Amino acid sequence: CGIVGYTGSKEAGPILVAGLRRLEYRGYDSAGVAAVEDGSIEVRKQAGRVQILEELLRQQPVRASNGISHTRWATHGPANDVNAHPHVGGRGGKRSVAVVHNGVVENHATLRRELEAEGFVFRSQTDTEVVAHLTARELERGDDPLDALLRVLPRLEGTYGLAMVTAERPGELLGARLGSPLVVGVGDDEHFLASDPVAIAAHTASVAYLQDGEVVRLTPKDFEIRHRERGPITPRIDRIDWKP
Ligand code: GLU
Repeated sequence: CGIVGYTGSKEAGPILVAGLRRLEYRGYDSAGVAAVEDGSIEVRKQAGRVQILEELLRQQPVRASNGISHTRWATHGPANDVNAHPHVGGRGGKRSVAVVHNGVVENHATLRRELEAEGFVFRSQTDTEVVAHLTARELERGDDPLDALLRVLPRLEGTYGLAMVTAERPGELLGARLGSPLVVGVGDDEHFLASDPVAIAAHTASVAYLQDGEVVRLTPKDFEIRHRERGPITPRIDRIDWKP
């Protein structure tokens, strides 16, 4: 339903939670955050209001200046803590990547069987978790995370707005769009990713909308957009001319 991501030098948790609050009006059933803290992926997620997530983060803070977050509107699997996003991908106890997803992966059952046969253990009943494990499998080859993501996307049937962080590249956010909106927010030595500009408008008025078939990599210093098949895209920066 809602996606907010951040990479920069500020503490990510409060920025992500404030962004999710801006998206609450859309309705949702669960909320969660993932960030890379000292090279390991930390997840805080729960069924219920963003306020409950905020409370959880107060009790168990995540110390990171990067992260992704999500409000879920369940389509596959009941609204509970386990099915809340982010979902972590990896096998043999490894936690390589965390994923949040808007939309539906239609061929999730086939992909799940394939991954389970290869030793990936699923924790949730969501369609989204296949994206996390598919990406983890590609990351095992030691390739660049964006290349890994580009190999995963052709396997997905359905719609997605995706955001990811990987354990090996703290401070790097990845995103992809097909049939579900994503926008990049451009700041000073910080970047944002959101499903709706209202979530990031408090921080920047400069945005770049992703088009269907495009992927993005964000770091604090810069961002690059590529089309799945056609390669690098020169981003068009738009101004949001309203304040939240
Ligand atoms: N299909 C996913 C799920 O049920 C994502 C739902 C959403 O767009 O929030 O977990």
